[in-house]
Amino acid sequence: MLDFASSRFDLAVIRERQAGRRVYLDFNRNSEPAPGDAPFWLDALDSDVRRYLEKSAALLASPIERLRKMNPLSIELYRRYKLDIASGPLEFGVNNQHMNSGLAVGVWGDTSLPGCYAVGEAAGTHGVTRPGGAALNAGQPFATRCVEHVAARPVASDPTEPRGLVESGLAATLAILRPDSALEFVAIHDQTQARMSDHAGVLCSAEALREALRAARALNARIAREGVAFEGASGALRALQWRHMALAAEATLAALDAYIGAGGGSRGARAILSHDGLCAPGARALSLEAYRFKQERSQDRAEQILVRREGEGFAIRRRALRTLDHAEKPFFERDWSDYLTGAIFG
Ligand SMILES: Cc1cc2nc3c(=O)[nH]c(=O)nc-3n(C[C@H](O)[C@H](O)[C@H](O)COP(=O)(O)OP(=O)(O)OC[C@H]3O[C@@H](n4cnc5c(N)ncnc54)[C@H](O)[C@@H]3O)c2cc1C
Repeated sequence: MLDFASSRFDLAVIRERQAGRRVYLDFNRNSEPAPGDAPFWLDALDSDVRRYLEKSAALLASPIERLRKMNPLSIELYRRYKLDIASGPLEFGVNNQHMNSGLAVGVWGDTSLPGCYAVGEAAGTHGVTRPGGAALNAGQPFATRCVEHVAARPVASDPTEPRGLVESGLAATLAILRPDSALEFVAIHDQTQARMSDHAGVLCSAEALREALRAARALNARIAREGVAFEGASGALRALQWRHMALAAEATLAALDAYIGAGGGSRGARAILSHDGLCAPGARALSLEAYRFKQERSQDRAEQILVRREGEGFAIRRRALRTLDHAEKPFFERDWSDYLTGAIFG
């Protein structure tokens, strides 16, 4: 958001939407000049933008022509949803591209529940420093490691052991489904979505976040007390989905609250707003002082935040990141036999 970089665009969109207005992206005309500035002109673009378009062979007159050249399928994708961006503007908002969190896993994707694995967005393998484009390829090799480990596992000798676990989990889950409950999944959906967009998105402030956490806790307490109403199989699915989203929301807010409460600053795409922050975005025609934010502290990069459901709430712990021991680097002559015999999976 500093030095007139691109995140001020996100900020502008968020401000408009918070003011109750709707924002559209129009691919059918170039952007209008700021007062006193020259009209849009391809030759006047910043050199990196121009180079990007040039390399893509997309130095074309209008945004829709440039998009058609670079990614024609995106235009088709919107058509499938009955939106023709070649003839009209597209409404949009700012969203999180991915979660830098997930289930705690070992190097094979194994979780603390034996036999249960997680990969991709579901696994907590994506740190804050993950490069934007590395999610897909990181998820795919990791999934390969995961299935190799599954294949190498001995078949469970006592199949009754997981059965008890599954049955108690199922009973707890089904206890939430109550046809006569006054609480409908739509209410959980609306509340949770608004709360997370407003308080756990790009902009966060300590006071508002604490209030959001209190409300998320109250919602989960109500769900535990009253259950969620449903009608039919798909209604039951929605009820359970939003019960889990409400829990995930509380877990996320609890982690954020603990992080900010301990003095944590802005990380990744999230700005932690604070009056005593050292950074404030600038603008030509208005004050953005309300968006003053705290910088990231380097010590927070050395720790991982662990969230665990305990009782009716979430316990937060921190632990130091594993350090890379250079002596542990793969060495063919040493490691190949472990790979061949399967000892590596231990
Ligand atoms: C806009 C955007 C752009 C991105 N661009 C890039 C990029 O350029 N490069 C890159 O590397 N990464 C990119 N990413 C990130 C990358 O796409 C994701 O990290 C990756 O797709 C995650 O894969 P996944 O299989 O873990 O999860 P997903 O692809 O989210 O798959 C999860 C699947 O589970 C299904 N599901 C959910 N709940 C249930 C349920 N209860 N029962 C059954 N099914 C269920 C969902 O419908 C979904 O199909 C981008 C992400 C976004 C949102």
